Amino acid sequence: MGAFLSLKNLARVLRFGKLRTSAPYLKVTLMAKYPNPMLVKASRTYDVLEATRALGRTPATIRNWIKDGLVVLASRKPYLILGQAIRDYIRAKSASRKKALSQDEIYCLSCRAGRRPLDMAVTRHFQTSKTCRINGICNACGAPMSRIISLSKAQHFFEVFRLKKNLASNA
Ligand SMILES: [Zn+2]
Repeated sequence: MGAFLSLKNLARVLRFGKLRTSAPYLKVTLMAKYPNPMLVKASRTYDVLEATRALGRTPATIRNWIKDGLVVLASRKPYLILGQAIRDYIRAKSASRKKALSQDEIYCLSCRAGRRPLDMAVTRHFQTSKTCRINGICNACGAPMSRIISLSKAQHFFEVFRLKKNLASNA
């Protein structure tokens, strides 16, 4: 096998199972979409730059996560983020990449999978001007579950979920 392998040949050798994958020029390292959530300490708070350093991502990535619903401690800058919130966000995101949640499911942190909420009942918490978080109780294991939905799609969700009055004021 030569030092250069065209894509066409690569497909051929893969198909016939003759590829020696130890060939160093075939090793391609792709950065995982989401970093290991254990890189942050659960009980520590991080500002954007600290989170950037801990996770090896750019500040723009962290800010995108915040726009996407990563929970921050205060809605003003500089943002402070609890390590546990970063862990929850990364876990929920990498799980939803594995299998997209269907409309009647919420991500259960305990099952680590999409589950239906008990009685299809949820509470709603407004988060940003574009997103809200819905919380329910997993009907499989009883653990709390949460899902961030965009307000523009919220109407569809509340045709599926039953909105309970929040016991506490909006968190
Ligand atoms: Zn569960």
